[in-house]
Parts: sequence; structure tokens; C-alpha cells
Amino acid sequence: MKVTVIGTGYVGLVSGACFAEAGNKVMCLDLDAAKIATLNAGGIPIHEPGLEPMVARNREAGRLLFSSSYDEAVEHGDIIFLAVGTPPDEDGSADLSHILSAARSVGQRIRRSVVVVDKSTVPVGTADKVREAIASELARRGADLRFHVVSNPEFLKEGAAVNDFMRPDRIVIGSDDAEATAVMRQLYKPFNRNHNKLIEMDVRSAELTKYAANAMLATRISFMNELANLAEDLGADIEAVRHGIGSDPRIGPSFLYAGVGYGGSCFPKDVKALLKTAGDRGRRLRILDAVEQANEAQKSVLFDKISAHFGGSAGLRGLRIALWGLSFKPNTDDMREAPSLVLIGQLLAAGCSVQAYDPVARDEARRILQARHPDAFGSGALAIVASAKDALQDVDALALVTEWQEFRSPDFDALAACLRRKVIFDGRNQYEPAEVQAAGLAYHGIGRGTAG
Ligand code: NAD
Repeated sequence: MKVTVIGTGYVGLVSGACFAEAGNKVMCLDLDAAKIATLNAGGIPIHEPGLEPMVARNREAGRLLFSSSYDEAVEHGDIIFLAVGTPPDEDGSADLSHILSAARSVGQRIRRSVVVVDKSTVPVGTADKVREAIASELARRGADLRFHVVSNPEFLKEGAAVNDFMRPDRIVIGSDDAEATAVMRQLYKPFNRNHNKLIEMDVRSAELTKYAANAMLATRISFMNELANLAEDLGADIEAVRHGIGSDPRIGPSFLYAGVGYGGSCFPKDVKALLKTAGDRGRRLRILDAVEQANEAQKSVLFDKISAHFGGSAGLRGLRIALWGLSFKPNTDDMREAPSLVLIGQLLAAGCSVQAYDPVARDEARRILQARHPDAFGSGALAIVASAKDALQDVDALALVTEWQEFRSPDFDALAACLRRKVIFDGRNQYEPAEVQAAGLAYHGIGRGTAG
């Protein structure tokens, strides 16, 4: 099948590459000419395990093309995916300007019947707006063409996106037209071989399903974070509690990890957008309200522990803190809403200096942090270094913020020799408190009330 994907970010590029891998002829379009130039030169603009060889393989086979020309891209596809960003607007609602602009660009150019697919995460009712945007462009140029708009929200996880797309646990198709549904079924056939993962529904339910999924996951995280904070007060260990409840099949073991709050490009913005959607209809989502508030508070938990350990603001001034992990989660270079950014801001404001390392997000982190804290970079109060070991040179303490594999089992004796003030702040509960303490280090995790 001939597929066009508009927007070549984490979702668009992965979807495009995977559709090409399944034998389709795919053209990916982006307005960001630098991104398209990188891709056409054989490079890859994001870090996503397994993506680079897949893109290369399909590009070489002529099944995966990249363009910044809407004329070319709209002419190419019988199925046109919209996978552009839907960032939060100032009032928390999803900013639909990119998706509606892409829809208008499609409407200005289509010359045959197509299926337009909303792949981006968009509020309920957006498919209607996309349909109107295309129809009004068609009317403007007097074109009488049939087209359908379907919703096909994406559930891939950054860091495991290729695998998630190739082996999805569900494929949601929201469609109000049998013909368009049949086209989507055909496209997803190679991803749906062993047992049926297609879930077909109406467009509005599909749109809401995506928000419901992210809201539920965010809820689990905030729930566990609040419970972790209570566990600390009570002298209980949230890790034991996690095992204790996760073995109940009604609860399940995933997404029960206490930490420094959720970040990333999806949960924060999707929770906000769903709250706004509800608010616009005069409905308060009390649970989700609390989920968001709990998460905001949790982003400060590691700083609060560091501050408490060193006796407050006077004790913090002049300390140099090593930070392991900058991306919002492991296996991605995505820094959007990363809790590390909050912690770094708090440490710098308290007069600490920071020496940070991340396996892949260093460049992206530097770009963002240089804009936020230009003076700190200039004065050396903030440095992004090239290895986990470099981060430990001449520092007082270590804070683990993102649980990359390479931070899993450090040599605690070596750490004890490096860290002047002999303390680890484990924002992801990666370490066994007793093991850390045996090396002569103080340990602070999240919700590990038995560790003291
Ligand atoms: P992204 O920011 O990585 O990529 C979006 C791309 O769209 C950018 O490259 C941008 O240049 C391009 N773009 C913007 N306006 C355009 C236009 N008018 N025409 C052509 N290109 C345009 O975003 P992403 O993370 O891939 O997310 C895309 C959508 O998918 C969002 O709605 C997001 O909520 C949703 N989503 C994201 C994930 C994820 O893990 N990142 C998972 C599921 C769903």
C-alpha cells in the first residue's frame, strides 16, 4: 500500500519505518527541513533502539522516502497519517494548530480518494475538525472528492517504540465508515497475524481511549509515589509493598514504580488536556486533578531529600552534586518534561553545582539547559560530562535520576572512595539500601522507610 506519514518525530518516523518494513511504500514528510536532510543523508534525528537499521534497510530498498514537499507527499499516499505534535497550549488544552495546518495542506492537494488517519493524540472531536479543514479546502478549489478521516491513536513507548509498533498489544481503529475500516484492517494485517489485536470502535471512543490509557498510567504512578512517601513516614518499604500488590492479577506488576514523578512528552500534556476537555464541559475529574498535583510535588522529592540530608539551605551552598541520567526515562534522548530539569534548577538555585551525565540525551539536555541556565554553564556551576565516571570526579554526592542500564550495579566501594560526603540519593530505587550502606555510604531512596 502507499502510505504517507506527516510529521517525522518519535511516532511518525517509527510508524513510517515499520509500515515500510511490512512491505508498504512509505513517504515521511516533515516541515523541519534539517530533519529531512539528516534522514536523506542516512542519519537519524532521534535515539530509538532498533530504529536506525530499520530505517537504513527500508531506505535502501526504496520503500521509505523522506520529503519536505507537501505536493510530493500528498500525491504519494492513498493513506495519509497525521503524526504531528500536539503540545500543550497555555491553558493546558492540546494545541491543534499543527494538526489542522497539516489537514489543510492535505485538503489543498489531494487529487483522489484517500483515507486520512489521526495518529497524533488529539482531543475528542478533533477528527471532525480535521474533516472540516480538509472539506473546506476542497470546497475552496471546487474539488469534489471522497475522503475519510479515521482515528488510530498510537500506544508505542519511547525506548521500545519499534518493538511496540511491530508487536502491538492492541491496534485501536476508530472509524465511522466501513470502507475506511477495511483499508485500515488491510494495512495492519502484517502486525495482526497471530491473534486479533484490532479493536474497532467509533471515532470519538478511539480518541478518548488514548487519553484514558495515559491518564490511568499516570494515576498508577502518582498513587505509588504518594504511597511511597507515606511508607517512609511509617517505616515501611515501598519496594516490598510493590511486590506485594503487583502479584495480584487484578492489579498487575507494571507501572507501580515509585520515583521522582512522571515526565516525557505524553503523560503531563495528556493529563492536562483531558482535565481541560472535562473542564470545558463543566465536569471535574477529581482523581486526575490529584494525580497532576501529586506529580508536581513529587518532582521536588529528590531535592527535598538532598536538602534535608545536608541540613537545609546553609548546608547545600557550595556542594557539587553528580547526577546520573537526564532523559525522562531510559533508552530515549527525549528530554521533554524530564524531572532532571526540575532537580537541576532547584540545585542551582540553592547554590549547588551539578555535574551530569546521560548515555544518550547529553546533546539535547545541553541545548535545553544552556537556554535555561546560560550563566551556570559559563561559570562551571553546571557541566554535562562524557561518562558516568567523569560525573563522579570531585563531587560531594550522587543523585540517580534516570535508571539507565549502565547505572544498575555500580561498584559501591569505588563510589564511597569518590563521593566526598558519602551519600547516594536514588530517585529510582535501583539499589539495595543494605548493599550501599555496607560500602559506608548513606542511602536515600523513594519510600524506603526501613533503610534508615
Ligand atoms: P515530535 O515532536 O517528536 O514530532 C512531531 C513532528 O511533527 C516534528 O518533527 C515537527 O517538525 C513535525 N510537524 C509539526 N507540524 C507539522 C506540519 N504542519 N507538517 C509537517 N510536519 C509537522 O512528536 P511525537 O513525540 O512524535 O508525537 C506526535 C504525536 O503522537 C503527539 O500527538 C503525541 O502526543 C503522540 N504520541 C507520542 C508518543 C511518544 O511516545 N512520543 C506516543 C504516542 C502518541
